Amino acid sequence: MDPAKRASLGARSEVRDDARTETRLEEQVKDWLRYGEDLGLAPYYRDRAPLHAITESGAAAPEESQSIATSSDISVALPESVPAMMAAAASGRAPAAPIHVASSSASQKSPATAAMKIPPASPAATILPASAPSLFEAMDRIEGDTLPRIREDIGDCTRCKLHKGRTKIVFGTGNPNADLMFVGEGPGRDEDLSGEPFVGRAGKLLTDMIKAMGLQREDVYIANVVKCRPPENRLPEKDEITTCSPFLMRQIDAIKPKVICTLGSCSAQTLLQTAQGISKLRGEWFDFRGTKLMPTYHPAYLLRNPAAKPEVWKDLQKVMAVLGLQPKKR
Ligand code: SF4
Repeated sequence: MDPAKRASLGARSEVRDDARTETRLEEQVKDWLRYGEDLGLAPYYRDRAPLHAITESGAAAPEESQSIATSSDISVALPESVPAMMAAAASGRAPAAPIHVASSSASQKSPATAAMKIPPASPAATILPASAPSLFEAMDRIEGDTLPRIREDIGDCTRCKLHKGRTKIVFGTGNPNADLMFVGEGPGRDEDLSGEPFVGRAGKLLTDMIKAMGLQREDVYIANVVKCRPPENRLPEKDEITTCSPFLMRQIDAIKPKVICTLGSCSAQTLLQTAQGISKLRGEWFDFRGTKLMPTYHPAYLLRNPAAKPEVWKDLQKVMAVLGLQPKKR
């Protein structure tokens, strides 16, 4: 073939490839914006730069978007407004570091900090005004968010595959102004049927633990990472956690507990964004966006391993010291 003709055909093919890539990216961005809208976060990104500004020019794209390396080493160019939590989940974060809590006076809430902090984008990667929060940051800033509004936003949710097997959504229960919030992994069979978290045998044990701390169940708030029962009580999968956990984040922000006590590995790993096992995490204080977080074993684990109860009691005593609670008198 004539070299000039071959060069011309090659150039046209490259143009077609570029166009396909741009279309795919634009669809990706639209999907994420729809997802944000589903979560009730639209007001936080609606006034941002129009979508075409992100993908309009191939030459401008590197300056207007940030490149996020996924765990499979695929580098995907996404606008900063795409949920950073997804990027963070994909990037694999360093384990959260424990903090030390000295006394009950330390129970004052501090400004939001590290546990789920997204690394700042470099100036060259920023496409939005500095005052515009990212979608993830926006979740921290839903002023006046309430539990009823979060429940309403969940609706009759079909956002992840867990909806297929559920009987009832298990939103959470307890005091909306609780100082202490317990977070488990997901509903079991009894919870799925009743719509209440922790009502089976493990739930009864949790209630006993709460009473031993000198509290009633109604004094605390209890929620799970995912709101629908995983089949056969398996652990929630990563995509299910990624989809559902923003609602838990909003619940935490609405309740503003002084202490979060995570039960089992799933909730600790989700909130602290770590892969460390619960036996390494339990008994240590962590900071979760300004709230003290104490991981301990799940009551269901204690039913299988009663020998671990003293360890859990030690963890709960640390929580009691921070909250100024006295153990229940026998
Ligand atoms: S687990 Fe959460 S995201 Fe999935 S269907 Fe249930 S409420 Fe929706």
